[in-house]
Amino acid sequence: MDINSEKIEQVAKMIVESKSTYALTGAGISTESGIPDFRGKDGYYTKMDPTKALSRERMLYEPEIFYKEGYVMLKDLYEKKPNDGHKVLAKLESMGLLKGIATQNIDGLDRAAGSKNIYEVHGQTRTAHCLNCGSRVSFDVVVEKVDSGEIPPKCNSCGGTLRSDVVMFGDMMPEDFSRAANDIDGCDLLIVVGSSLVVSPVNYLPRYAKKFVIINGEPTHMDSMAEVVIHDRIGKTLVAILKKVEELSV
Ligand code: NAD
Repeated sequence: MDINSEKIEQVAKMIVESKSTYALTGAGISTESGIPDFRGKDGYYTKMDPTKALSRERMLYEPEIFYKEGYVMLKDLYEKKPNDGHKVLAKLESMGLLKGIATQNIDGLDRAAGSKNIYEVHGQTRTAHCLNCGSRVSFDVVVEKVDSGEIPPKCNSCGGTLRSDVVMFGDMMPEDFSRAANDIDGCDLLIVVGSSLVVSPVNYLPRYAKKFVIINGEPTHMDSMAEVVIHDRIGKTLVAILKKVEELSV
């Protein structure tokens, strides 16, 4: 029997009884797809400081360094596949038990798993835009240009600088963040999955929900405020929760 089986059952019951449940996901949900997180035991922080490598300042004023370090992290997300954790959240949404996912991730794996209502609160890696004329292009255009040595990559229409639509450290928060905050405000339940809850302002979101639960491999500074905390691997925990939810729903 799983040492967390009582907590798993408790979370499943909360999901079934809640009228409005959202999820808040972080880099931890995607490590089982082979994408390193920031602060986990094999995270990027063991090699570099992502708050510098992925900063607005570095991108704009030191592009040669940005395209050697930060950009490589963005490019590394290509061709990764969703795992059990992403699939369980998509399934809960299709069952009408999850209203949406506010994700800090930029990898698009929730979308690839079939989730529909996604708030990309730190942006995404599908597109880039021109800082001068605002025109939007596929991120593939940036990759092609950078691969051919065009650093920083330039807009074909006006010659301005193209930048990724990922929210860099130092950038303003996108509209998706305000939409997520509005919708999560007053909801019955928020399931926080795979986040150290260190990055602001996203780490305010749990307080907006009436109750929240945390599923994470390591303790977070918000554990004491959560209704239930499960310290275990995300994929197998979410699969076990879904199984219980299905049992309770028949
Ligand atoms: P974080 O790295 O600060 O925290 C991740 C947490 O997940 C850690 O506490 C770690 O112990 C836990 N974890 C990792 N794998 C796990 C697993 N299999 N099972 C259980 N727990 C696991 O991540 P964060 O809170 O999302 O904040 C950092 C920032 O990282 C975000 O802004 C996000 O945009 C960015 N980021 C995104 C990606 C991605 O898109 N996949 C990858 C790296 C970083």
